[in-house]
Amino acid sequence: MSDTIFGKIASGEVPADIVYQDDDLVAFRDLSPQAPTHILIIPRKPIPTLNHVEEADAALIGRMFLAAARIAEQEGIAAAGYRTVINCNAGAGQTVYHLHVHLLGGRPMQWPPG
Ligand code: C5P
Repeated sequence: MSDTIFGKIASGEVPADIVYQDDDLVAFRDLSPQAPTHILIIPRKPIPTLNHVEEADAALIGRMFLAAARIAEQEGIAAAGYRTVINCNAGAGQTVYHLHVHLLGGRPMQWPPG
């Protein structure tokens, strides 16, 4: 499997504005933010899409959302509200094939998304 830009960020090969990292996860600011706060949370493990998640990844996926909630608190967007998004495959707008949760907040959100 070829490495993606997010794999290179996870390994430190490519710099990013990292807001949180641990042994399993890295969270960094999106280069093209779609809201005042737009952070991407990725596993270090290179899972291409949500379709590739396995039973053994259950705790890892849970930790990605726990990190999202903690970062939302740190960013001061938890009380007003925020959105988490995973785009799966091209039809949903996925462009980087390394699983990531978008954490978006700091402005009112519309529903349904486009
Ligand atoms: O869900 P999707 O795959 O479309 O999201 C990829 C996200 O990664 C985009 O929001 C894009 O702005 C971001 N990105 C980034 N830094 C890169 C390449 C993409 O923040 N070097």
